[in-house]
Amino acid sequence: METCGMSGTVAFIGLGNMGLPMAVNLVKAGFDVMGYDSAGQMRAAAAEAGVRLADSQAGAVAGRDIVVAMLPNGAIVRTVMAEVALSARPGAVVIDCSTIDVESARWMHEHLSVHGYMPVDAPVSGGTKGARDGTLTFMCGGTEEAIALARPVLSTMGKRLVHCGPAASGQAAKICNNMILGVSMIAVGEAFNLADGLGLDRQAMFDVVSTSSGSCWSINQYCPVPGVGPDSPADHQYRPGFAAALMLKDLGLSQDAAQAAGVATPLGRHAKKLYENFISQGGGDRDFSAIIEALCTMRRE
Ligand code: NAD
Repeated sequence: METCGMSGTVAFIGLGNMGLPMAVNLVKAGFDVMGYDSAGQMRAAAAEAGVRLADSQAGAVAGRDIVVAMLPNGAIVRTVMAEVALSARPGAVVIDCSTIDVESARWMHEHLSVHGYMPVDAPVSGGTKGARDGTLTFMCGGTEEAIALARPVLSTMGKRLVHCGPAASGQAAKICNNMILGVSMIAVGEAFNLADGLGLDRQAMFDVVSTSSGSCWSINQYCPVPGVGPDSPADHQYRPGFAAALMLKDLGLSQDAAQAAGVATPLGRHAKKLYENFISQGGGDRDFSAIIEALCTMRRE
């Protein structure tokens, strides 16, 4: 078992679908964890799962060496981090694992650094299964020193850590990756629909593409048609997995970042529109790979 770089006390803020299993893995590894979530039912679920809870966020972070946050969006992260800067002990390492906009991540680094903390942005890939299994990948931004101190906690919750660069680099890597994922899932869905239209057997399509130049994670590991390729949400009526609403959130973050940076991302922009349409038709809670069905019903222009 690895022990924490300092005395090993951790506060965990945001015990939802991702945060709770991550916190549970820290508890199982022997870290002294104090959790907090603003929702009563999440606190009840966390207590049942064996996570010790504080009555308030300030109570959770007070005196802790490391603060981990796993929250829905940048606005909430800003609010939570403003309070962390009032109540955590000076010098604490503060790790935000949420997927948020690059601007909010930069703000977090500046705000916490000014107040004497050691911030790390560390968004994840691997989803709820990776969170449960402790196999997440962390994409980290921050100083070498802060990341070295965060490493024992992160390597308990995940199997891979990439130090992407300075403040907010982890968020930048995360939204670039998920823009590729959104675009490639649409491309794979379109190709299967075309294959169907041409009378090509789906298994033959998979066997060729998954070993040819069209291969990518969206077909090889997460094939969007049932009964073909490894087990995926398509084999379970498109239960998420990774919900389409979260994909739209990430495509929105990449479009905001592209606009702020003055970079053209035409496929990313179009992917966002297609997911908006899919969600307006009620697809938000389905796995993002279910977009293949919406593509199938679109009329050819
Ligand atoms: P979730 O909604 O299940 O959990 C978020 C938790 O934060 C909730 O329990 C909520 O009550 C709590 N919360 C909200 N405001 C709070 C506050 N002010 N103080 C304390 N707690 C507060 O979401 P999730 O699926 O766990 O996702 C969390 C983050 O991880 C998001 O940024 C998401 O984009 C990212 N992410 C999710 C997945 C996934 O598959 N679910 C994968 C990768 C990344």
